Amino acid sequence: MSIQDDFGSLVFNAKTMSKYLSSETYQSLLATMHNGTDLNPSIADEVAEGMKNWAMDHGATHFTHWFQPLNGTTAEKHDSFFNPDYDGGVIASFSGKELSQGEPDASSFPSGGLRATFEARGYTAWDPTSPAFIRKDEGNVSVLCIPSVFCGYHGEALDKKTPLLRSQAAIIKQIYRVAKLFNLPMDKRPFITLGAEQEYFLIDTNLYKMRLDLMQTGRTLFGIRPARHQQMEDHYFGKINPRVLSFMADVDHELWKLGIPAKTRHNEVSPAQFEFAPVFEEQNLAVDHNMLTMSVLQSIAERHGFICITHEKPFAGVNGSGKHNNWSITGPDGKNWLTPGKTPHENAKFLFVLVAIIKAVDTYAPLIRAAVASAGNDHRLGANEAPPAIVSIFLGEQLTDIINQLECGTPKSSKCGGLLEIGVSSLPKLPKDATDRNRTSPFAFTGNKFELRAVGSEQSCASSNTVLNLSVASALDDMITEMEKAIAAGEDFNFALQKILQKEIKAHKRILFDGNGYSNEWREEAARRGLPNLKSTPDAIEAFKDPKIIALFEKYNVLSEKELNSRYAIAKETYELVVTMEAECALMLAKTMILPVGISYAAELANSLASLSNVEHSALQKMVESTASLVNSLIESIEGLESAIKSGHADQMLSAMEKTRHFADELEAVVPDNQWPLPSYADMFFI
Ligand code: ADP
Ligand code: MG
Repeated sequence: MSIQDDFGSLVFNAKTMSKYLSSETYQSLLATMHNGTDLNPSIADEVAEGMKNWAMDHGATHFTHWFQPLNGTTAEKHDSFFNPDYDGGVIASFSGKELSQGEPDASSFPSGGLRATFEARGYTAWDPTSPAFIRKDEGNVSVLCIPSVFCGYHGEALDKKTPLLRSQAAIIKQIYRVAKLFNLPMDKRPFITLGAEQEYFLIDTNLYKMRLDLMQTGRTLFGIRPARHQQMEDHYFGKINPRVLSFMADVDHELWKLGIPAKTRHNEVSPAQFEFAPVFEEQNLAVDHNMLTMSVLQSIAERHGFICITHEKPFAGVNGSGKHNNWSITGPDGKNWLTPGKTPHENAKFLFVLVAIIKAVDTYAPLIRAAVASAGNDHRLGANEAPPAIVSIFLGEQLTDIINQLECGTPKSSKCGGLLEIGVSSLPKLPKDATDRNRTSPFAFTGNKFELRAVGSEQSCASSNTVLNLSVASALDDMITEMEKAIAAGEDFNFALQKILQKEIKAHKRILFDGNGYSNEWREEAARRGLPNLKSTPDAIEAFKDPKIIALFEKYNVLSEKELNSRYAIAKETYELVVTMEAECALMLAKTMILPVGISYAAELANSLASLSNVEHSALQKMVESTASLVNSLIESIEGLESAIKSGHADQMLSAMEKTRHFADELEAVVPDNQWPLPSYADMFFI
């Protein structure tokens, strides 16, 4: 089959629907899918029947509501289509009710206190804006998956999709108001676009299985960087190793079948690190597709003898992995609103939206930081690579210049040269490529979209997109309301607009920074500007408790205070669980694998020294002493780690782990390679 025929063959898309449904039902379902309205109950049974027939033609025997609980993964519970008939056989059936709603026992999913166990039932409901698909597992088991939201008995959102959909409703409402304000055509459906680039590592399965730390925590808790790692900058965009390429080709093919527009594949900066990027799609679909992509990467990797590692920092000393989150708005005029326009009027709308985003990110920076907070991402953000924990915006030279001009003049007087007059001036053409040089910025304008680079590679990007939608919705709302008032008071449109833009730029320009985000100077400068630098998850998630942020979520009906509190509770608990698990795993490895090897090597050296007593051996004597002292320090640090675990304090565990690692890694550098109990970084990087 050609790729064109294969693309989307595992998706219940328009093409398939038209084959399996009557034309009236097909039309009605299509409208539901586009508008996100409830499924018309009168067609639900026929839709379910058609879906079942299609799924069974693909060998599926089961269906599942596929949802995204608050632990950041995807969840599924399979039910078969089969029920006994009266003749000792079975009949296949799938009703509209089964399609529309599920009732998994939800007591094992984190609810962050939203639900007591006695009312543990959760409900899943089909999200018709994301089409059903068939997931073919390894072993060729096909399951019909129905993308769903997940909520509690009283409608509380127990998942990541519900607030995302609510935040979309909030921003779409404001997008229509902008369109009205600027008198734009409104004949198309507006939506938010997302292109989620995914970084990951591949490790040979046999080596992976010898690394308890990787298996249990997703990252190495010990290990020294080999002499040659990423410093030659020869891996990034380098020739792809044939074994990896064959894996990537299989991934692309599987994703195409799932209707995921796989586009780009390449080597990343670190050895054994790679990147995947799709063509952008409607945001909700793109989030679902990114979750699916991670799962496909993992299962195809296994087929190729690899393990796909999506942890944010699997190896110390080389680059970690992120998920670059490319975000933009497609307006009801069918155009990308983050593309600078051709006419002064289009430019005015572009600048209005741009300034709203600047205002949103400055006002809600702590929330954007909180949305990407996790134990894994803490090793990446704020470390000397990838975006810092300080949220700032990169605009590029030309756009910064435009913003400066806008701020500088008053609508009537021209204080400084090159003043930009709204509604009159044209913008210089912004070349797309020139804007994307600065990789150190957490939130960068890249010519026709913003790229949030702080999202962790393992995280669902639902939360980041929710807070982006929500904070931009709020900024747009404020600015539109002010414009409407000014116009109602008889002010000239362009005059009022210029005044608002100037005011907002003055208020929020502190968030703009085009320099090196990794530098110490920026940290100092950011502190002077009053920008928060929330380095760790416990600090960052406090944003969820901020009354200003609670009010924001409540005003736009994205999450109630109770629902938001549950996110805080889960983030905090997950963080503590992860750190404790890592500390326990580090302790086990240090005690039972590394220390014994250290001790026997120290003894071996001491024996050599004794048997060589009649030759000059001062250097050997020194080696014996330094190795014995390393072993001693390791023992002491292990004791420290034990008491840190007992204390239950994550910060103490983290620093005790670091100390233990320090001595263990020093030992790794001296113990003979064939005695070291764990595969080395060098072994794992060579694939
Ligand atoms: P890079 O950032 O690696 O230079 P690109 O800029 O070409 O690569 O694109 C990165 C991602 O941004 C891709 O997934 C692409 O589809 C996505 N993208 C491009 N345009 C938009 C848009 N209007 N909205 C959202 N994502 C977009
Ligand atoms: Mg990019």
